[in-house]
Amino acid sequence: MTEQTDWPENVTARYLTVGGATVDLTHRLTVHTPPAPLATLASCTGCPTAEEFSHYRLIRGMTTQREEHEPAAADAKARAWAQSHAETCRAIPKPPVTPQQ
Ligand SMILES: [Zn+2]
Repeated sequence: MTEQTDWPENVTARYLTVGGATVDLTHRLTVHTPPAPLATLASCTGCPTAEEFSHYRLIRGMTTQREEHEPAAADAKARAWAQSHAETCRAIPKPPVTPQQ
């Protein structure tokens, strides 16, 4: 299980794609101090695909609208998306650029 040590600090979950890349879940933070997570971002390291899941859901009423904070629901959606992308993505991660000397 040595792979786990390479995880970037902010990655909360990681899915291995069929192409050998990973789909990483990270939290997008607000610019406030201290920053708070506002969305869960799922991004593939093998292809440019990424999807953002907001932690806020807009509830529309008859005359008003309000926002509900649902980070767990956003995380669940992001995990489902990452899982299904990992199962279908065949893009191979680009090897790191090695400086020529
Ligand atoms: Zn991909």
